[in-house]
Amino acid sequence: MSQYPSELLTLISYLKKLPGVGTKTAERFAFYLLEWSKEDLTKFSDKLATLKEKISPCTTCGCLMDSSHCGFCDGGKRSPTTLCLVSSPRDVYAIEETRAFKGLYHVLGGLLSPLEGRSIAGEVLEKLHRRLEENPIEEVIIALDSTLEGDATALFIKKKLDEWGMSTTRLAFGLPMGSSLDFVDYGTLEKAFTGRRVF
Ligand SMILES: [Zn+2]
Repeated sequence: MSQYPSELLTLISYLKKLPGVGTKTAERFAFYLLEWSKEDLTKFSDKLATLKEKISPCTTCGCLMDSSHCGFCDGGKRSPTTLCLVSSPRDVYAIEETRAFKGLYHVLGGLLSPLEGRSIAGEVLEKLHRRLEENPIEEVIIALDSTLEGDATALFIKKKLDEWGMSTTRLAFGLPMGSSLDFVDYGTLEKAFTGRRVF
């Protein structure tokens, strides 16, 4: 690898920053890119260069938007009384795929981590509080990961929402669709038991 031209080494080091891409894959991608036409490479690099200007987080909800239009806040087509709290803009698209939610979103931008001593910034909480006060929101749905960090953040936010007198729900945890009981891990099975509903 040290025999590679330095430009190629730099390209490989950038490609390795992508998730799941190790040295071998990065090398393969780099050689593949060398076979692209100059025109395609220019178009690709132009897209990368303007990515942050063309796509930015909405200042109200934190979802991704292009130019000056937020598909979730603008247009008034969504129910204004429910607010779904997620950690990253990516989660929004996963929830949209289900077509089960027609309310508004609020992106937290990260989770608190008790192990790493990371908290939720004061301005993030203030922004959420302001949004709840200035809009007719009646219920906040906490849609955070079922992990140590997700659970800790959910508890922390729930306490704040209680203080603010806001009705709060959290996504149910349970058996994955199409799974049999003996294949489900104990943690999931335990949550499915405690979260059982009248049938
Ligand atoms: Zn928005």
